[in-house]
Amino acid sequence: MSKKIGVKAIIFLLVVVCFSMNQETPAQKKRPKNPVVEAKPVAPDIAYTVSMSKPSTHLLEVDMAVNWSQMPGTLEVKMPVWTPGSYMIREYARHAQGFSAKDAAGAALAWRKINKNTWAVETRSAGAVAISYKVYANELTVRTNELNDEHAFWNNAATLMFIKGQLAAPATVTVNPFGNWKVATGLPKFAGRADTFRAENFDVLYDSPFEVSNFNEISFNVQGKSHRIVFSGEGNYDMKRCAADFAKIVEESYKIFGELPYDDYTFIVNLRGGGGLEHLNSTALQVNRFGFKPDSRYKNFLGLVAHEYFHAFNVKRIRPDALGPFDYENENYTKLLWVAEGGTEYYSNILLLRAGFITDKEYLKSRASGFQSLQETPGRLEQSLEDSSFDAWIKFYRPDENAINNQISYYDKGELVMMLLDISIRSTSGGAKSLDDVIRHLYIEFYKKGKNFTPVDFQKASETMAGKSLDDFLLNMFAELPTSTLIRS
Ligand SMILES: [Zn+2]
Repeated sequence: MSKKIGVKAIIFLLVVVCFSMNQETPAQKKRPKNPVVEAKPVAPDIAYTVSMSKPSTHLLEVDMAVNWSQMPGTLEVKMPVWTPGSYMIREYARHAQGFSAKDAAGAALAWRKINKNTWAVETRSAGAVAISYKVYANELTVRTNELNDEHAFWNNAATLMFIKGQLAAPATVTVNPFGNWKVATGLPKFAGRADTFRAENFDVLYDSPFEVSNFNEISFNVQGKSHRIVFSGEGNYDMKRCAADFAKIVEESYKIFGELPYDDYTFIVNLRGGGGLEHLNSTALQVNRFGFKPDSRYKNFLGLVAHEYFHAFNVKRIRPDALGPFDYENENYTKLLWVAEGGTEYYSNILLLRAGFITDKEYLKSRASGFQSLQETPGRLEQSLEDSSFDAWIKFYRPDENAINNQISYYDKGELVMMLLDISIRSTSGGAKSLDDVIRHLYIEFYKKGKNFTPVDFQKASETMAGKSLDDFLLNMFAELPTSTLIRS
């Protein structure tokens, strides 16, 4: 090695060293130079208070306190336009009134509406914003709100506004009941604060209705999990009998899945109107106050209970592609409502059968009338189950005088197809498999793994249990129907 060469080499090495000193290693690159400037997004602290000081006005009073280290200059708060489980745009913002916003010092903040369901508040860099508004609540259905001198019932999606882009944020709800009313909801209690509840995110918050009244209640346990029934209003119900019968429905569901996927469960029963809506660990039910006798009416009610309860598995956890996390400002389209609703309706009757509430003969008689009714519906030649599911927003939920001619119900026809699918799987598997295996497969392979399922996934799961292709079955369920109109378009 010559000296000359040695000097050149030293200069080269110095250049390399100097150059590399200006380069960041991948590890250095990941480290923020200034942790304050590059801090991760922080979720807002959102605390709602719902009051009902004047029940005769039907106005729920909502306070929404937002504390946020990253408060934007313009805070957009939005009212959902629909609530999951009821597939229609309901424009809940139309019931909001008296909107106002203040900073921590109580100074009014300017705001303006920027579309039908969005209020934009100029925060003036305030770290805390207090929003107040009222919600007119005078319609008792399972997807709307009611406040009167007997009770308050509300859905959070129809009541509590969310912050744009912050549906993953946690929230608390404090209820100020009227008089000595009690509070029932599926949300867990916030430790140490009376009538305060917490939701880990807005999909949980919006899936947890409230009933506030002097309700009667009874609890029962199944597999170590607490279940509570809340009855609001007077009626001819027998609480102990209901508890025993609801427990049988829960137990039969447990036998299918081998677990109950919640810490506790609340049945909210309003003794007026009719219908039900499923939620994560609760359900809102409505039944005529005299709907508990005679037995035939009571069994109809148990069918409703079984349907909404089974949704805790099918749709709330075994989730079709588009059904969660939810978009609360637009339609959430899926071709699978026939599985979510038809499948649940099928199982509601199967649970009644397995629990001994109805006989084989009663079960088959009512399915026979279901087939009869379907055959008498001209719409069966016009709309497939998947199309019926997809267009639920504009057709099934908005029927007109022509509906019988161009629609079928994904509940009714879905139930019948599920029954035939169950029979087909039992037949081709020599009795080794059934629809229970399909629904359990979806529970384990999709819900337990944090995934939603698609139409293809449903067919594959069914074919796995049947041990053969179900292409023909799914396309040709009824021989006289055009193949394109049964399930698929
Ligand atoms: Zn349903």
